[in-house]
Amino acid sequence: MKQILLLGSTGSIGTQTLDVVQAHPDRFSVLGLSCRSDVEALYRQANLWRPRFVAAESALDPDRLPAGTVAFSGPDAAERMAAEADADVTVLAISGYAALRPLLAAIRHGKRIAIANKESLVCGGTLVDAALKTYGAELLPIDSEQSAIFQALQNGARGEVRRLILTASGGPFFRKSREELNSVSLADALNHPTWKMGRKITLDSATLMNKGLEIIEASRLFHFGADRISVLIHPQSIVHSMVEYCDGTIMANMSKPDMRLPIQYALTYPERTDSPCEPLRLDLNHPLEFYPADLDRFRAIRMAYDALRADGILPTVFNGANERAAELFFEGRIGFTEIEDAVEHALNTVENRPADSIEAIAEADAAARRAVSDHYGV
Ligand code: MG
Repeated sequence: MKQILLLGSTGSIGTQTLDVVQAHPDRFSVLGLSCRSDVEALYRQANLWRPRFVAAESALDPDRLPAGTVAFSGPDAAERMAAEADADVTVLAISGYAALRPLLAAIRHGKRIAIANKESLVCGGTLVDAALKTYGAELLPIDSEQSAIFQALQNGARGEVRRLILTASGGPFFRKSREELNSVSLADALNHPTWKMGRKITLDSATLMNKGLEIIEASRLFHFGADRISVLIHPQSIVHSMVEYCDGTIMANMSKPDMRLPIQYALTYPERTDSPCEPLRLDLNHPLEFYPADLDRFRAIRMAYDALRADGILPTVFNGANERAAELFFEGRIGFTEIEDAVEHALNTVENRPADSIEAIAEADAAARRAVSDHYGV
């Protein structure tokens, strides 16, 4: 029986993780749940799952929790719960940069972390690596592309790998011209063709910022440089990513797009077990298409490569500027293509330095957000 600590339980990955737990009551139990502000959903989950711990950024009413539940609230609630709860597996499903401190707290238990959050890896860089080594913790990817690469890498030695190939659906605007992109609305941006996901990652998929973050995330997880990571547009989201070996063999990972599959694998690895996911029927239809990713068109991908090559705090600046620009787009203050402009502006104005402490990273994140706010006068 594995005890699961689920950080970000009310979001898309969080609720799908609970689906996986529910499908395997003999394997998993819930030790703790956390959310940022959706406390109504958290109360419902807590009364259903009866975890020992809950945490929320917003205030929690103990009368609405099962008796004896240990509750944390406040801006660092998830971090404090992660520090306290000694789980067999911590699932990190918090969105954005806010996951970095909870990640570092979870690593200190030296157990398994199933990570859906990419921003913490992008920003944490060598700090996360050093902590993993010190405490002997294990990081298992949930992000579908990284899970695919993780699985494909099991088919050969590291020295036999030629490159990692990340697939990208291209988002809802793959076939739109740059002029057409200027007038994209919030509703258009949140209408992803193949995946149902939270709002920030859906927007990131439309801008291709998500793929940019995943390039850096892949480098963090698997320790290959920018030159060994390539991107291929694949609109059907059936091939989740690939590894090319030195003899030219490409190992691909395929399934219907369903996040419960990589979530479950991160929980059960190295075992595989039955899953609630519908099998892929390649005999039914499924033309699988692949196109090169045009770096002149997809500025987000080009900027991510540049940030990864420069490293230091620039991956944090890339992410922080994107998070701030996404907020401004959601508030209707900037247009769709201005998200790219905002990130470019921040990368050009915030000076690079080593990302050698949590303070340096937090400062870089704040500086990137400030650069974007100042640029748009908000
Ligand atoms: Mg992904």
